Amino acid sequence: MNLILIAPPAAGKGTLANDIHEKYGNICISAGELLRGVDPETEIGKMIRDLQSRRELVNDELVNKLIEERLSCDDIKNGFILDGYPRHMPQVDLIEETLEKLNLNVDYAVVLNVDYEVALKRTLGRKICPKCKKSYNELTDVNNPKVSGLCDDCNEVLVSRNDDNEETFKKGFDLYYEISTPVIEYYKSIGKLIEIDANRNAEDVFADVELKVFK
Ligand SMILES: [Zn+2]
Repeated sequence: MNLILIAPPAAGKGTLANDIHEKYGNICISAGELLRGVDPETEIGKMIRDLQSRRELVNDELVNKLIEERLSCDDIKNGFILDGYPRHMPQVDLIEETLEKLNLNVDYAVVLNVDYEVALKRTLGRKICPKCKKSYNELTDVNNPKVSGLCDDCNEVLVSRNDDNEETFKKGFDLYYEISTPVIEYYKSIGKLIEIDANRNAEDVFADVELKVFK
């Protein structure tokens, strides 16, 4: 089963990708991780590091090249998940070409729908222990620390991430809808879209995905 996962910030995409990987063995392929992990000694690595050192955006062609290299590895034969890629239409065109070239097929594009208020709450409530890096959430029903503001394991005072504020969140959320809506429409038009209500907890979201995707 080969999947594309599309979701706004704080929809639970990472958790879902991990749950699918654990149970079904699909390999998660994230453009962000590939960019961070690129070997700086390779030709493509040099190009990417050069762009990054000038604080320029890595263009879609280079990102797609990394995805293509990853999709060429043998371990994806039992299924893959493209995590947050393609994000916008130019990437859809590139990945379609790549898939055709590699003789691969995407079964479904799974989109996680989450309300603004729910996603905002998840983001603003996010806390992390500076010592053991365990993460918590003080504004949702799950993942609360036993004592408010303190790590269960080491009693350290929990901290927020600097970029977890409403302004940054709103920017990311709005950008997602602007650029991803045509992508979602595209997969709908070719009959591959599966919509999941991601306002629910991770277990319910995973159960729904199993029902609709892995039935
Ligand atoms: Zn801790």
